Amino acid sequence: MSKIQVMDEILANKIAAGEVVEKTMNVVKELVENSIDASSSEIKIELLDSGIKEVKVIDNGNGMDREDAVLAFSRHATSKLRSLEDLFSIDTLGFRGEALPSIASVSDFTVKTSNGIEGTIIHLSGGKIQDINPTDVRQGTTMTVSHLFYNTPVRLKYLKNLYVELANIIEYVNKMALSYPSIQFTLTNNGKELLHTDGSGSLLKVIHAIYGLEVSKKMMEIDEENEDYHIYGYLGYPEVARSNRSHMTTLVNGRYIRNNELNRIISDSYHTYIPVDKYPILVLNIEVDPLLVDINIHPTKMDIKFSKMDSLKELVTKLISEELKKHTLIPTIKEYHPSNQEFLVKDSIQNIVWPSFPKGENNEKEEKVKLEEVKLDFNEEIVTTTVSDESSLDKGKIKKMYPIGLVHGTYIIAENEDGMFMIDQHAAAERINYEKYFKAMSEKSSNTIGVLFPITIELPNHDYIIVKEHLDLLRDIGFEVEEFGINTLLFRSHPVWLKKGYEEASLRKIIDIIISKETFDYPKFIEKTAITLACKMSIKANDHISLEDMEHLLNTLRECDNPFTCPHGRPTVITYTKYDLEKLFKRAMN
Ligand code: ZN
Ligand code: ZN
Repeated sequence: MSKIQVMDEILANKIAAGEVVEKTMNVVKELVENSIDASSSEIKIELLDSGIKEVKVIDNGNGMDREDAVLAFSRHATSKLRSLEDLFSIDTLGFRGEALPSIASVSDFTVKTSNGIEGTIIHLSGGKIQDINPTDVRQGTTMTVSHLFYNTPVRLKYLKNLYVELANIIEYVNKMALSYPSIQFTLTNNGKELLHTDGSGSLLKVIHAIYGLEVSKKMMEIDEENEDYHIYGYLGYPEVARSNRSHMTTLVNGRYIRNNELNRIISDSYHTYIPVDKYPILVLNIEVDPLLVDINIHPTKMDIKFSKMDSLKELVTKLISEELKKHTLIPTIKEYHPSNQEFLVKDSIQNIVWPSFPKGENNEKEEKVKLEEVKLDFNEEIVTTTVSDESSLDKGKIKKMYPIGLVHGTYIIAENEDGMFMIDQHAAAERINYEKYFKAMSEKSSNTIGVLFPITIELPNHDYIIVKEHLDLLRDIGFEVEEFGINTLLFRSHPVWLKKGYEEASLRKIIDIIISKETFDYPKFIEKTAITLACKMSIKANDHISLEDMEHLLNTLRECDNPFTCPHGRPTVITYTKYDLEKLFKRAMN
């Protein structure tokens, strides 16, 4: 190859590097996926300064012979490029081939590899092979990328800071560990271990390694199928939900994907169990005939398209809602213990001094990169909880609780043989009313009751037009309504479940929902109506109710489909188990 051609190639690689390796995470991704493709059962990722100083990936995979090792760094001779369609039907991660030369062009790169017969060590600098030598190493490949971007200072500003880089890498390695429980993953940064999975094939053990014991104890195992899909994995209890949807791990035929529609279906299935701004921790393995999925977007986005979405939706919805009903979901109060990972990330980042980089070319001002403290997602405080003796509670039900009194006019204190309970009286009443209203409206033929004096409601003309167009919604839920003069509606009867004395107020709320135009889809409309009316019609905080009323409230709550949360996803009841109390008063030692 002539000198000019070599220069062109290095330039091309540098340009490609801009697209491929904007983040150290992409370097880690590339190297790890090579290791997975090489059938490794152990993959070790060792970072120095979040990978900016060095990324080293050590595997025990097939390794390469000398010829393949050299070829791996040649941009145009790649044999690894595969068609998009292959992606989900073959068991390699595919899709690359150009990334290694790109990474090599902006770093010092060393590859040590052996296929068990011959060992080779290659050193590249700025994309140029410096030397190739035979070496004696065990089977597998070790790739070391150091001084990343050393010859392109302008790229430095994309590397936001060490926390963000490390958080991205951890998230990626976590996903890989969840995708491949049979591979032993180890991740370290500056010598501190951030993740270690045992490669035993147990998904729950991987969840434990990532999220800690408290969370792994709050997972529900699932396994369901229909004619198109088979889904298995773990669903997190509502109480361990996070404010970031990145903990919803969805895999299709073993490959990590992110699909907005699927995420929405999952969130909807947890609806009213967790607040709208929270997302469950879960791992769903979806097995499907590869012919039923299409790759519709850029592959690095990891999105795909399901051709039988309805069937998937039905299965996911059924799976989650049925599973949630099987479990006792009463949070208990516990001290917060940070997970290992969180602890170690902080530890491994302390005392890092930014490496010095050469002065920028092209008069580009070298940007001083500051180490900012970024709140990592897994730092967030969770009220971790344990129902320590689940067997003593009826699965999925709350045992009868006996009220003792009211605290701050808001929280009912109750007890039974299992422990002490605190119930938010508004949240509990809201749940009861929500289910009552929702059920009544779902059965369209719900009973109506005539009124002695018809209710008339006059509206501004633009609102009147909207409501007039959707009178069927009002009729479907049980109002007898007719037009009555200019911009006025007349109601002769209303559904029986409306709270006495609040008929007109409720009706106005419902009309407001129609005017808001948020939804005219019947199921969503009655959902919204049920939530709104339940909140308005339920006892409030600072309503001092009698013991009899409390008892009635608790008994009715126990009969709810989901007695554990209000329709907004807040808990209705929390508990100190008998054991918790004994521990807190040091009657029981542990
Ligand atoms: Zn409310
Ligand atoms: Zn609520």
